[in-house]
Amino acid sequence: MISLKSFRYLITDMDGVLWRSHEPMPGLVEFFQFLRQRDIQFVCATNNASTRAEKLAERLQGWGADVTPDEIVTSSSATADYLETILPAGARLYVIGMEGLRVPLHNKGFEFAEDKVDAVVVGIDWNLTYNQLKHAALNIRAGAKFIGTNSDRTFPNPEGIVPGNGAVLAAIETATDVRPIVIGKPEPVLYQMALKSMNAVPEQTLVLGDRLETDILGAVRLNLKSALVLSGVTTREQLAASDYQPDWVFEDISALTSAWAND
Ligand SMILES: [Mg+2]
Repeated sequence: MISLKSFRYLITDMDGVLWRSHEPMPGLVEFFQFLRQRDIQFVCATNNASTRAEKLAERLQGWGADVTPDEIVTSSSATADYLETILPAGARLYVIGMEGLRVPLHNKGFEFAEDKVDAVVVGIDWNLTYNQLKHAALNIRAGAKFIGTNSDRTFPNPEGIVPGNGAVLAAIETATDVRPIVIGKPEPVLYQMALKSMNAVPEQTLVLGDRLETDILGAVRLNLKSALVLSGVTTREQLAASDYQPDWVFEDISALTSAWAND
């Protein structure tokens, strides 16, 4: 069995791992201090498409955690990086999404347009309308590529379990019979971008997350070692019933820090 001390790189999820319900997880500051002391490079990789990396870094810094925007990859920033590799400079996009998606796409020099577009890019948008779904479908039927930031079907908010971007992608897929290219976990692109940004050796990289069907499945598919924390959405019952398993399970990042430090 490989030991934790062999890892030189970390890809960590954010919500449910670093914070929960807008409260920092116990041991958050010490976790990042430990990574710096050990010179373990890390990237925070989140399916969150609505918030920019700078804002997420500000949140962590506000709690005293030493994380810079360069160390955060969102499904939106990864989408912008990916599109740069498959589309010509200045390509036209029809975008459904919020600032977290629009700013990284704009910064890459893409042009936003209603029609005659090269790609339709879809991330979560709290103000989604029928008109936007219609434009997306018409553009895809006219030959535009169909890209989704992430396929999370739902997410928890204070009101309960509410529709995620996967539900929006499903509506457009139903209307076009075209399946989207999805960037976020468990699809490989987000983790591949995170590995690339660190120049990481995959065998020396640990993936950390709280959700089996995104964080852990994405790691399993890329043959990366993974650790699950039980501080987020996954229960021990769900873990026991899962077809695929993480290599380690910890109550939270405090427990991981202790185990890693003493390994
Ligand atoms: Mg999470």
